[in-house]
Amino acid sequence: MTGERARADGSTSRANAGGVPSGSKRDEIDRVRKSLPIALAKTRLMEEIRKSETCIIIGETGSGKTTQIPQYVYEDETLTNGLMIGVTQPRRVAAVSVSRRVADETGTEHGKLVGYAIRFEDVSSEETRIKFLTDGMLLRESVIDPLLSKYGVIMIDEAHERTLQTDFLLGTIKGVQKLRRKSVEDARGRVLPPLRVIVMSATLEASTFSKFFDGAPVVYSRGRTFPVDMFYTEEPEEDYLDAAMWTVLQINKEEAPGDVLVFLTGQEEIETLGKMLRERASKLPANVPTLNVVLLFAALPPEEQMRVFEQTPTGTRKIVLATNIAETSLTINGIRYVVDSGLSKMRTYHPRSGVDELLVSPIAQSQAQQRAGRAGREAPGKCFRLYTEDVMPSLPKYVKPELLRTNLSGVVLQLKAMNVDDILSFPFIDSPPKEALLRSLELLYALDALDDEGKLNDVGRKMARFPLEPMAARCVIAAEKEGCTIETLAILAMLSTDSVFYFSRDSNGQKNVARHKLMRKEGDHLTLLRVFNEFSACSAKRSRDWCREHEVNHRAMTKAAKINEQLTRSALTLGIKLKSCDDNFDAVLRSLVAGFFMNSASKDMDGAYKVFTTGQKLTIHPSSVMFQSPPETILFNELVRTSKMYARDVSSIKRSWLSELASKTFAKRARPQ
Ligand code: ADP
Ligand code: MG
Repeated sequence: MTGERARADGSTSRANAGGVPSGSKRDEIDRVRKSLPIALAKTRLMEEIRKSETCIIIGETGSGKTTQIPQYVYEDETLTNGLMIGVTQPRRVAAVSVSRRVADETGTEHGKLVGYAIRFEDVSSEETRIKFLTDGMLLRESVIDPLLSKYGVIMIDEAHERTLQTDFLLGTIKGVQKLRRKSVEDARGRVLPPLRVIVMSATLEASTFSKFFDGAPVVYSRGRTFPVDMFYTEEPEEDYLDAAMWTVLQINKEEAPGDVLVFLTGQEEIETLGKMLRERASKLPANVPTLNVVLLFAALPPEEQMRVFEQTPTGTRKIVLATNIAETSLTINGIRYVVDSGLSKMRTYHPRSGVDELLVSPIAQSQAQQRAGRAGREAPGKCFRLYTEDVMPSLPKYVKPELLRTNLSGVVLQLKAMNVDDILSFPFIDSPPKEALLRSLELLYALDALDDEGKLNDVGRKMARFPLEPMAARCVIAAEKEGCTIETLAILAMLSTDSVFYFSRDSNGQKNVARHKLMRKEGDHLTLLRVFNEFSACSAKRSRDWCREHEVNHRAMTKAAKINEQLTRSALTLGIKLKSCDDNFDAVLRSLVAGFFMNSASKDMDGAYKVFTTGQKLTIHPSSVMFQSPPETILFNELVRTSKMYARDVSSIKRSWLSELASKTFAKRARPQ
């Protein structure tokens, strides 16, 4: 009955909303929905879901878990009790794209019945019943509403990814479930029903989840898959982008119709290969299909993300260049060929320094399998691995949970804000190393977020409510004192988007000539500020030309501007005053030092840099404005390891600021070791 309700909503909004499917698209959607493996298992699945408070669902990628099960659950009032269904995703892109798809399928306007919430963006309303959100967003909601009283059902999707936030959420939800079993009341005095939880995963390993939820039942829904032929390179590839390009061109020339999915590690690389392929595409002979190159990575705006789902016109071949987002979170129909670089970017934490490092690392065997599987969803396919066959056994079997390899200070801060004082007793699905938790506590103490007894103080409470990592949030609080909140917020917004400069690859490495005009000698942070300010000073019409002239990514800038608005709003909500320091750049740099002091290093005898707290050696990345004239002491925002350990987003700072602004860490330390 409720299924009809969804459709009836659709017919009213169909008249006035452009994005709602018309008749034939509707039929096509219904046809696809009915044929999905999950649809065929619906009766059995729903029986299991009704039977127990918590249930684990395992199903092949693309079988319909994410798009279908929330709709089935919505149709059953006994499951929702009229409350919302929250479906969490580790990735922002997936939350946006999947909610749009489900809105389409229900024939309703996006943001009404079906909506989403990700950091810096909320497309939902009072009417929303199926809400997709990132795990991080639901965690934030649970800080404000510890009973999650708006929700009747929580679905934790992509649990196999074992991201930091997912694992943290699993522990939190377990606690909420316990509270809700006691017939508690919400703010309006209504007794809340127990909280139903559905954990969904694409890999077969389910015992961890089942055990964690006290033996919750596991339901398997096997999808149909076709054989995939594997090809490996004979020798290790020196330049896998080049190898990827030639592989794509060869597939295009020699293989039967079918689209190609290429797995790469990140935005820059994807854009570079995109350019390389488009250049080649214009010179292809007439007898091979035209290349239709589309990109897919997290920073892409939703409209462009949707392009990967568009059908391929005859005579053309779609080439999707994607990050591991296309591994299990998004399924693109029509793929017959997969090209796998064997790599992905992993956030890895140095427990001693508190610095997160974005590491391009070999994928796990489970990921290699998932990637190959994308080629055999609709018909037999082929997978071209850009690595040698003997590498396979040396890869780890599964991805190591992020919780065990990343910075936990954000999690610990949230725990403190949720009044979990004894963080060592929190029910983590896999306990992080005690040392890592203690380091996080130390960092929070060094950031002045905790008092001497380890309790959250005012600074810490503000930091916990700010939609940024603790170190970045600390910068904002320091900025108020330095009188430069406007500038610091702008820089943090710029750091929250992906790279804004286009770099072209040539024999000398990375180049961006136009950027010279925007450079500020103090470093990358103030250069980013200048870019932000000049961009913001342009009219909407002029801003595109300005970006073109300066080889700046317009899309990334628009996003930075939006994030800046959000951050500014958050600051105002927390009572942080907006102040500008005009050209007093020291103030801005000092505010950054107050938060990111762990990421500081000084020049060593050999010209390389050494991180103060850890002794880690590093070099300034060639893309930095500081590359040509390396200063004595630097602050950086990111470590990237390729052939060497590189620091990105680098600025020159004064050594004395460290002991002044981060006294808990630096006052006693006389010299770098
Ligand atoms: P799972 O969660 O089990 O991996 P999904 O529910 O994401 O599966 O996908 C089910 C089907 O819906 C797939 O065939 C997928 O291609 C299709 N689909 C999902 N999003 C879109 C979209 N935006 N446009 C077209 N098809 C889509
Ligand atoms: Mg899914």
